[in-house]
Amino acid sequence: MEPGKPCSHCTTQGCAIYESRPEIPCRKFRCAWLSEGESLPENMRPDQCGAIVMFDRKWNGWSIVKAVPVGVAIPEETLEWLKAYARENKKPLLFQENLLKDGQYHGIRNVGYGPPAFQEHVRKAIGPEDIMQL
Ligand code: SF4
Repeated sequence: MEPGKPCSHCTTQGCAIYESRPEIPCRKFRCAWLSEGESLPENMRPDQCGAIVMFDRKWNGWSIVKAVPVGVAIPEETLEWLKAYARENKKPLLFQENLLKDGQYHGIRNVGYGPPAFQEHVRKAIGPEDIMQL
């Protein structure tokens, strides 16, 4: 529900109230892996790859791929897959990392990955330290 705080209905077997889960966000939200027409490989399922991926998100006028970590950070292997996807599809990637301080969640860092124009936009909107070069 927020960094470091899973939904109170989340169990190791999945959602404890799946049949009566709320409409928003649980029934309406569909990540890229679930969306019809998208073809993410099986190992990009969120519980396997460590990221929830959303295609065709709008961010400050850009059409981007967005990814948020299931845990603290997106695993390196998954990040490499996402970067390759972004390059091949010529679509910027914006991903998040959860920040820890003394073992406690402390905030979220947004990181942009994409072409120079996107990097410039991210630089202005977020900060230069959040930009990864192509
Ligand atoms: S589907 Fe909704 S209610 Fe169920 S665990 Fe996930 S966030 Fe919680």
